[in-house]
Amino acid sequence: MVLRILLCQHDIITNMKIVSTNPSRNYEILGEVDSATEQDVAEAVKNAREAQPQWAALSQEERNVAIRSFVDICKQDDNYKRISEMMSQEMGKPIREARHQMKDTFDYFDDYMNMAKDALKPQVVFENDTERHTQTREPLGVIACIAPWNFPFLNLPWQCGQALLVGNTVVYKPSEEIALFAQLMQELIEQSSIPKGVFTVLLGDGAVGEMLVGQDVDAVSFTGSTKTGQRIIEIAAKKSTRVLTEMGGSSPGIVFEDADIPKVVDIIYLMRYDNTGQYCDGLKRLIVHESKFNEVVAALKKVNETKRVGDPLDETVDFGPLVAKRQLDVLVDQVKDATDKGASVEFGGKSPEGLEGAYYEPTLLTNVTKDMRVWSEEVFGPVLPIMTFTTEQEAIELANDTIYGLTAYVFTENHERYQEVAGRLQAGSIAHNNALYFSTKTPFGGYKGSGNSRTGGVAGFEEVTQIKIISEEK
Ligand code: NAD
Repeated sequence: MVLRILLCQHDIITNMKIVSTNPSRNYEILGEVDSATEQDVAEAVKNAREAQPQWAALSQEERNVAIRSFVDICKQDDNYKRISEMMSQEMGKPIREARHQMKDTFDYFDDYMNMAKDALKPQVVFENDTERHTQTREPLGVIACIAPWNFPFLNLPWQCGQALLVGNTVVYKPSEEIALFAQLMQELIEQSSIPKGVFTVLLGDGAVGEMLVGQDVDAVSFTGSTKTGQRIIEIAAKKSTRVLTEMGGSSPGIVFEDADIPKVVDIIYLMRYDNTGQYCDGLKRLIVHESKFNEVVAALKKVNETKRVGDPLDETVDFGPLVAKRQLDVLVDQVKDATDKGASVEFGGKSPEGLEGAYYEPTLLTNVTKDMRVWSEEVFGPVLPIMTFTTEQEAIELANDTIYGLTAYVFTENHERYQEVAGRLQAGSIAHNNALYFSTKTPFGGYKGSGNSRTGGVAGFEEVTQIKIISEEK
């Protein structure tokens, strides 16, 4: 949880502190950081503007060397420990998962470095006897990258990595929920050989983000809720600034009558409850063929009995708390709305006893109807509503019954049916049984209210560059 304290009531915000608290230990204070002022924001953008031409003029290998120096600093034993433990303490991520995230982050940086050169190779797109047209790609310039808190370390390569590697400079505003983590990143970037102005971290909340969007930047790359994304698009539209968005989700999972439940139950459970349900692409609505309903509920219950909620620094814990009390409050209201309207709690449905903080048990809801908030809103916590269907058409309609379109999951042994259904689902990525859609080469992003851009793969490099055609007389 973060408190925003206004110490000095001036026109320009000058003395803002962000207090970081521990959601797993009754919100004990972990520390505080100074929030960026309007002058800090303006200066960061000015430095980024000045540094950009020289950064873009470096060779790919020279840029890689600078980025690698930051990655190497993060790999040093003491920093590795600080980064992973800070993730656990500040956002409640179990320490084992935090260590996985360290590895994934290093892998993403490595792969992006390897991919950058080829991804942007010039291409001859037209040629005749008299002329040749070559398509090249150039950086956009200065990019404001605004990120959420749910993957504190991975957000660096995801939000900023491809942009930096192709020659943009980045002013990065991570979430205020991970203020100390953001400050640590600021410190480690400063120790690296990344030139001044190329990669600047700004500490602060939405107000700082809004100041940044209002600056002279060439693009905003935003990941976060759809509501905030829409606000940023509104501000940016007045200046015709390009906005790349990765926003909320309420991904459906369809379980067909031929699904192999023992084979897929772990992935269903994982994609809903892992990270305490705080995945943008989490499986947030389960749509089960009526003939499979009892089997699915029983199988999920059985897996749930093997899991433990507790202090994220405990090596044996599977789920920590939610990131903050504000997130817990929303979740409690969403579940209450569902039970008031007739939903049944199959397991969970409450905060666990004996733990103080933003804890909530993994929860399974049945007898769910479309008028419930757990169906119509994004549920950013460990709660899974189930609905049943009879026909394939009904299943697809239920799956697409959302303003979001980030991802979708289909569980069937019939590949032909899978291909047909995948084609009718309104989502940026579709998973089949245990085959998810993650790799550094695979673009990720949404349809509808889930966003307009892609990160990862060649498409991710294209998003942060612009096309220049160089035509040549023969
Ligand atoms: P959020 O929208 O509250 O905040 C995201 C970021 O935007 C934070 O850094 C915040 O300080 C900043 N911000 C808030 N108001 C702003 C404003 N007016 N102008 C500029 N910046 C502003 O989201 P959150 O709670 O941090 O993250 C959870 C949300 O993010 C969920 O909806 C989740 O689905 C989504 N998410 C999406 C993806 C994806 O890839 N599609 C990935 C992770 C999270």
